[in-house]
Amino acid sequence: MTGEVDRPEAASSGPSSPVPADGAAVPTVDAPPETQAVSWRHRHLLDVDALTRAELELVMGTTDAMTEVLARPIPKVPALRGTAVTILFYEASTRTRVSFEVAAKNLSADVVNIAAASSSVSKGESLVDTVRTIEALGADMLVMRHSASGAPYLAADVFGGSVLNGGDGWHAHPSQALLDLYTLRSRLPGGSLEGRKVVILGDALHSRVARSNVWTLTAMGADLWICGPATLLRGFEGWAARGAAGRRLTVTSDIGAALKDADVVMALRIQKERMASALLPSLREYAARYGLTRERLRAASPDVVVMHPGPMNEGVEIAADVAVDPRSVITQQVTNGVAVRMALLYLLAGARAGGRERGA
Ligand code: ASP
Ligand code: ASP
Repeated sequence: MTGEVDRPEAASSGPSSPVPADGAAVPTVDAPPETQAVSWRHRHLLDVDALTRAELELVMGTTDAMTEVLARPIPKVPALRGTAVTILFYEASTRTRVSFEVAAKNLSADVVNIAAASSSVSKGESLVDTVRTIEALGADMLVMRHSASGAPYLAADVFGGSVLNGGDGWHAHPSQALLDLYTLRSRLPGGSLEGRKVVILGDALHSRVARSNVWTLTAMGADLWICGPATLLRGFEGWAARGAAGRRLTVTSDIGAALKDADVVMALRIQKERMASALLPSLREYAARYGLTRERLRAASPDVVVMHPGPMNEGVEIAADVAVDPRSVITQQVTNGVAVRMALLYLLAGARAGGRERGA
C-alpha cells in the first residue's frame, strides 16, 4: 500500500520558523546556550513529529559541532556547567542511558542517574510524584524512558525544566531517529536522503524507533518502505493510506519488492518482551522469511547502508556477517548517539534559558 503520512506541517518550515531554512546558524557550542543567537523553540523533546525540516537541519548542524568537540584531545566543553541533568529510566537500557550520561558530562552538566527499580518507584511512588521530587531536588533537565507510551508527556506537564524522551513504550524514540538521520547523512553521497529508498525491516508494530523514523526520514525526502510480516505492520498501513503533502511511505510484506534497489536497510529487533500474543509462528520461521542475510542484500543497491538500532538478535532479524559487513554502520550509530544527544541537550537548554515555549 502506498501513500503519504499526515501532519504536512512537520515537513516544511512555516514562515514563523525561528530557524533559517538553510540551517546555517549553528551555535558555537563552547559557549553556554543562552549566549547564542540561534533560537530553538522547543523546551521539551518528546517526539520528532513536530520538528520542521529547518529544525532537523539545525540539530544536524549542531551535531556536527559536537562531533568536532568529540575529536578534540579533551572532548569536553563548559556549555552546561551548573545545569543539573537527571536520567530516569524505568526500562532496561545500556546504550541509550550511557550515551545520554556521556553526552551530559561532555557538556559539563551535573548528572544524576536513577534506575527506577532501585528507587522509591519500586515502593509504588507515582510518576508524577517522582518527577516533582526530582525537580525539588534541583533538576533542570530530565531524560526519561518509560514502558508506557505517553509517559514523558505526563512528566512534561508537571516538570518545570526540559523533558527529553529517551523512549516511551511503542510510541517514540526521538534521539534514536535523529542519530539515525545523522548517520545516514554522513554516509550517503551528497549527504542527502532526497528520493533515497530506505527500508525499515521487521517488528515495526512494537517499535518506537520505526515510529519516530517515519517522521524524520519522510521529512527529509526519503522514499520510505516499511516491511515485515503483516501481523507486525498493523497500524502502519493506515498511516500510509492517510497521506499528506510530499511524504512517501509504502507498507508491504513483500520483502523482495522492499529490498529491490534499496539504498538503506534498517533491521529492527524482534521485541520478544513485547509479544503478548502469538504474532509470529516462530523465530526460526521469521529468520527464514525476513532475516537480513547477505543473500537477500544482493537485491539492494551495491552501496546499500545497513543499520540496526540495537540490541541485535543475531541470526534472527540480521545475520551475524551482515552486522559486521563493511556496508553496516551499526557501530557508527552508537558513536554518533553521543554527539546527537549533546546537541539535543544543548539546544533544549537554550530554549529553557530563553523561556520560549512550554509545550512541544
Ligand atoms: N533498548 C536498549 C537501549 O536503547 C538497548 C540496549 O540497552 O543496548 O538502550
Ligand atoms: N534500543 C531501541 C529501543 O529502545 C530498539 C530496541 O530496543 O529494539 O527502542
